[in-house]
Amino acid sequence: MARSNNLTGQRFGRLVSLNKTDQRKNGHVVWRCQCDCGKEVNVVSSYLTSGDTRSCGCLKAEIDKSILKERYDPSSLFLGKEPRKDSSTGYRGVSRYLTRKSREERYRAWLTVKGKKYYKSGFLTAEDAYFNGRLKLEKEYLPKQKQPPYKIVEGCLFIRFLQR
Ligand SMILES: [Zn+2]
Repeated sequence: MARSNNLTGQRFGRLVSLNKTDQRKNGHVVWRCQCDCGKEVNVVSSYLTSGDTRSCGCLKAEIDKSILKERYDPSSLFLGKEPRKDSSTGYRGVSRYLTRKSREERYRAWLTVKGKKYYKSGFLTAEDAYFNGRLKLEKEYLPKQKQPPYKIVEGCLFIRFLQR
């Protein structure tokens, strides 16, 4: 049975109920509501009182968008979990090490592609390791399609499929 609660003027999240409509859904009164964003929507009273509906849909859209943004954070997409920059050498994908026998300082370039690590070692400077090691590894092992599988248009994120 429909309850005859008067919800006029009550606030539910972003919605303020304006007036009853003559619609009924599953025995519940459908209310005309004004959303904070300016839209007017019809909402079943039980959805309002239970808290299921708290906006015209704009709230959910905002949440969905922020979840999508988090999940597809461009930095997390870039070729696995490789750090943006190696802080110890100043070059990305270059680390310092000591030779086993003479304990001399050398630099090693490395690259992770799809979970596999590739190395070039024995460089005297970090710069050398980057330009003659890391960049060569990238040329050798990175997939040809270097464009990321997404683009950002006016703050919204669109995923497009990688062409193979
Ligand atoms: Zn709204």
